[in-house]
Amino acid sequence: MPDPAVAPGREQAGHAADNATWQARSRTAVWHPCTQTIRLEAAPPLPVAHGKGVWLHDYAGRRYLDATSSWWVNLFGHAHPALNAALKDQLDHMAHVMLAGCTHGPAVELSERLSALTGGVLGHCFYASDGASAVEIALKMSFHFWRNAGQPEKREFVCVQHGYHGETLGALGVTDVAIFRDAYAPLITPAHIVPSPDMREAAVGESAADVAHRAADALEALLAARAGQIAAVVIEPLVQCATGMAMHDPVYLERVRALCDRYAVHMVADEIAVGCGRTGTFFACQQAGTAAQPVWPDFLCLSKGISGGYLPLALVMTRDAIYARFQDEDVNRSFLHSHSYTGNPMACRAALATLDLFDSEDVLVRNRARGARLAAALQSELAGALADGVIAHLRRQGMIFAFDVAPEWIGERFSERFHLAARAHGVLMRPIGRTVYLMPPYVISDDEIDWLAEQTATILRATLNGTMA
Ligand SMILES: *Cc1c(COP(=O)(O)O)cnc(C)c1O
Repeated sequence: MPDPAVAPGREQAGHAADNATWQARSRTAVWHPCTQTIRLEAAPPLPVAHGKGVWLHDYAGRRYLDATSSWWVNLFGHAHPALNAALKDQLDHMAHVMLAGCTHGPAVELSERLSALTGGVLGHCFYASDGASAVEIALKMSFHFWRNAGQPEKREFVCVQHGYHGETLGALGVTDVAIFRDAYAPLITPAHIVPSPDMREAAVGESAADVAHRAADALEALLAARAGQIAAVVIEPLVQCATGMAMHDPVYLERVRALCDRYAVHMVADEIAVGCGRTGTFFACQQAGTAAQPVWPDFLCLSKGISGGYLPLALVMTRDAIYARFQDEDVNRSFLHSHSYTGNPMACRAALATLDLFDSEDVLVRNRARGARLAAALQSELAGALADGVIAHLRRQGMIFAFDVAPEWIGERFSERFHLAARAHGVLMRPIGRTVYLMPPYVISDDEIDWLAEQTATILRATLNGTMA
């Protein structure tokens, strides 16, 4: 095995030929997600042999800092000893059992502990395997709740402009990202789309809170007109990640909560990307309202980080009062939705070990220092690019960092070129359009933070020079 301490980008044990072989075989046999497959020859996938901490190692012994946390799922690095030990132990007990007609410790304990994190407000937990499924479940539950409550006409949904909630047909219905949705438009039941509270929309003299209020006013107008037909409003609290890390003021969440109460509409908080400490609090919603009385939605979707980035796990938390609406002798009033691997014990056990790490490592407190350090390092490394107008909107929310490259500087295939340049510099990054973002695992060290900020500026320069050449 290559030495994990090897310097980034340097050849060690292992062979470049092995990388090339995996790339060629992958192209022949694997249909890669979120990929323009015709580009696979020019921009082949990174073959990853193993991972340790924040580093991914290829088959030639080069290493890459996983600055995207493997699509935002990895919180405590790869091959974490505590997570590995928990899973090995769970494997010796039970890999899987169905959750209809059976129950098991990991699912029960995880439900209890997550509920406790909401002060018991969200008392029941429903399980699935992927984020999109969690969103589908929340939509179905909301509709079914109103149907059980004698209001079947409440069957429309509201989502936020540029919002993203997954790729299945139901989730795409509440997604407003054209490249993912437009090809399937004929198959999709569209939702109402309300303006985004994205703080970059601020006019001169306007604050982020002003933008949030403006967006909430538009939601209010829609609810005032149509709440009788609307089941739920679906939002991504604090950061709309997939559209390019669009951040907003927490007052938006307070307004949405108040409007949902006033117009008797459910609030669905999709915390699939922003949950599990990513924005600075365990749940992003906790940054709205007061510490004693935060904003809680009616449905809260979690996935991605909840298993520490180890196994597919998604869940929907909801209030006991909503659960109670499904308690009925009539089977049609029960929520019969299921997936084969619902509540998989291995995945739940990984989640329990993840929650243990939040406690034992004081993660939320320590992330404040890590986040501030990376923000300061980026600010200093990118000061020139900001001053020259090459980039704008350098921003941060917790452990999410982003900036936008000016359109006149991006050239053709900016994201792909940046990604390949980053790989050449020992970093795994995939910009979204012209937004460059960093979402590193929480275990990143001070030295790695400084190095990553420096590399980000270097990679940006290398990519832009390519444009000019
Ligand atoms: C990733 C994501 C999803 C979809 O989760 P999958 O596990 O990829 O299906 C849904 N909503 C948000 C906000 C996400 O970031």
